[in-house]
Amino acid sequence: MSLNIVVLVKQVPDTSEVRMDPVRGTLIREGVPSIVNPFDVFAIEAGLALRDAYGGKVTLLSMGPSQAGAALREGISMGADDAVLISDRAFAGSDTLATSYALATAVKKIGQNAGAGVDLILAGRQAIDGDTAQVGPGVAEQLGMPSITCVSKIESLSQNGTGPNLRLRRMLEDGYQVVEVGLPAVLSVVKDINKPRLPSLRGMMKSKTYNLPTWTAADIAADTTLCGLSGSATRVKRIFSPEKRARGETLEGGAAEQAKTLVQRLRDSGFSI
Ligand SMILES: Cc1cc2nc3c(=O)[nH]c(=O)nc-3n(C[C@H](O)[C@H](O)[C@H](O)COP(=O)(O)OP(=O)(O)OC[C@H]3O[C@@H](n4cnc5c(N)ncnc54)[C@H](O)[C@@H]3O)c2cc1C
Repeated sequence: MSLNIVVLVKQVPDTSEVRMDPVRGTLIREGVPSIVNPFDVFAIEAGLALRDAYGGKVTLLSMGPSQAGAALREGISMGADDAVLISDRAFAGSDTLATSYALATAVKKIGQNAGAGVDLILAGRQAIDGDTAQVGPGVAEQLGMPSITCVSKIESLSQNGTGPNLRLRRMLEDGYQVVEVGLPAVLSVVKDINKPRLPSLRGMMKSKTYNLPTWTAADIAADTTLCGLSGSATRVKRIFSPEKRARGETLEGGAAEQAKTLVQRLRDSGFSI
């Protein structure tokens, strides 16, 4: 069994203190060093491990400005076979809907180029800047594929009557859920799924000389009315930092005494208890 795997990789600012442009409602990226979105490193490792176990190919895919190529090169140095950057002014200002459309359209082209479609798409659980966790499921929706979120373990891959089948664990708040899904499918992964490998010397050499394909909207035959701001269903209306709230008071004593004090305070404030 050989798998054609695509991993979605987003380049994000190297900080959890994301600053926003209050006028444009977009992220301020200038002067902030960039990294591979941490969750995506786990998605890359998941793709590489499946390829190593079952054969096939891992292609990394990112949408962003040309600098995002650096994130893809990092993934190549970990051992990915190929990478594609989609970059075009038509993609600028995309919300998650337009981002999902553009990425899904590029996935179709990767599948067409391979001649056999894409078997599995892996994404991080969420991007640490946008934080919506919508793009993985959004790409699945655009491609008409099942979407499994919060994947914390890939238990097995087997072949059944209808084709390849993955058995997975999904992380829940107080346990896990075992899910089986037929391929092709889209998975978004959490950090518990694996321990990402370090870049190898061979991978680092390859990433330095790798001729990164950059596709425009025309190259992937994207409908530009569905891309960028015109394809976005949402608009950022206002960006603000929440006002700091005055610190609350912790009542003295044990639970019974606290309850008594609270009831008295409510009575004093005019509540009839
Ligand atoms: C009106 C509007 C305008 C915006 N304009 C801009 C803008 O001009 N510039 C800008 O940078 N952002 C812009 N954004 C934010 C942008 O839409 C999101 O960053 C983007 O859609 C991804 O969403 P997210 O960061 O929440 O990713 P999530 O959904 O949290 O990401 C989940 C996973 O999806 C994959 N993924 C997400 N984004 C990408 C990507 N670009 N390439 C490859 N894989 C990806 C990764 O695997 C990631 O781990 C805008 C948002 C809105 C609402």
